[in-house]
This record gives sequence, C-alpha cells and structure tokens, in this order.
Amino acid sequence: MRSPLHAKLSTIIWNGQWNLGDCYFISVIHLRLLCQNITPSGRDAILWNNDSEVSVSSVYKNLVQHNTAPVWLDFVWHEFHIPRYAVKAWLVLQKRLFTKDRMLRFGLYTDPICVLCATHPETHSHLFSHCAYSRIVLNACPFKVSSTWDNFISGRFLEPEPNDFEKHIGYLFISAVFYAIWTERNNRIHRDTRCNPSTMISKIKQIVREKLYSCVAFRARIKRDPSFVAILY
Ligand SMILES: [Zn+2]
Repeated sequence: MRSPLHAKLSTIIWNGQWNLGDCYFISVIHLRLLCQNITPSGRDAILWNNDSEVSVSSVYKNLVQHNTAPVWLDFVWHEFHIPRYAVKAWLVLQKRLFTKDRMLRFGLYTDPICVLCATHPETHSHLFSHCAYSRIVLNACPFKVSSTWDNFISGRFLEPEPNDFEKHIGYLFISAVFYAIWTERNNRIHRDTRCNPSTMISKIKQIVREKLYSCVAFRARIKRDPSFVAILY
C-alpha cells in the first residue's frame, strides 16, 4: 500500500471511498476484498476490544474479566484493614514472598529450614499457618483461627465464622500476624535479632487496639457494649 508508518484512516479513505492503492501483494488484495463490503461512514473513534470507546473502566473490565476475584479478597481489604498489612497479606496468599523454597527454586543457595521453628522447610503454607511459632501467635486471636493453609486459601480464616464485625477484627489480627511473622523471619536472618511469641502477641494486640480505637464503628460498638473491649487484651 506504501502508506506512511503513522498513516491515519484519512490516508486510505478519500471522499467516502477506500483508496488502498494499486499494490498487488496478496495481503493487500485480500484487504481490498474485505473492504468491498464495508462502506466508510461516520466519525473515527478509538475502540477498546471492538465494542466500546476507550475509558478507564472499559480497559479495567477487559483486563480483569477473565480473572475471578480470589475468595480471600474480603480478608485482605476488610473493614479495619491497615494498608501495609493488606499488601503483605495479598503477597502471602498469592505466595509471592521470597521464601526459602522459592529462593531454592530460583537456584539461590540457602538453608531451607524455617528460622522460627528450626524444624520444617520454609514455605508460605508453613511460615504463615503450620509453623509452631506462628500457630502460637495466631491462636492468640480473639476468635478461633482455621487450622490449615488450605482453609486460608479457601477464604476460611475463622472457624466458626463470627458475625461480620467480629470477623473483620479477626482479619485485622491475622493480617497483623502475617506482617509480624515476615518481619520476624527477616530480622532473624538479616539482623540476628529475635522476638519470642508472647512479646509478638503483646505488640500485635496493641496495634490492633490502636487501629480499632481509631475507627468510628468500633468506638460505637464499645459504647453500646463496654465489655466487648476485653477481647482485645
Ligand atoms: Zn517454622
């Protein structure tokens, strides 16, 4: 067709007619045949996915429409979420942290054993669910935490599941545990410092209390039921 690299439609449509040049490459001949049945009309518009004009929402819908939301999304972005904990929880549940099993898979040399319990290989499921150290901390949650990683991945973090308000407090606690576990793991590896489970629990409970006291919904709840605050100690 010998059209310029940045040719526009106006380059090949003149006075309402296709002008596809006189090139006899087979692809151009095929294109001419296809265009025979199309009458150029209307104004030009940039379309997304052939059916709608481009907008942020059309691009977003197209990008996400093939991916269903993970069942644990409500856990990550719960009512009382703390952004840095939510991001960490997302990475944990996607198994995106650079745990020792992943380091080995990438060909990096490392001692594969968990630095928290020193008994099992470090994986996401071990570190954030099954490790004896982590379990002590998780079990300090005001509500009973599910016992397996598979339950976490299936969106079942608390069993039995309490009402939504209490569930979100449980989610806040568990996401704070995830964050603290990863920090503790890194501190042991890179800084040679360690924190025992009871100290970690105290710190997490304090963070949870501070977050909840900053939330209007929680303050309203304890105003109606002052004894409820006892679950945070
Ligand atoms: Zn462990």
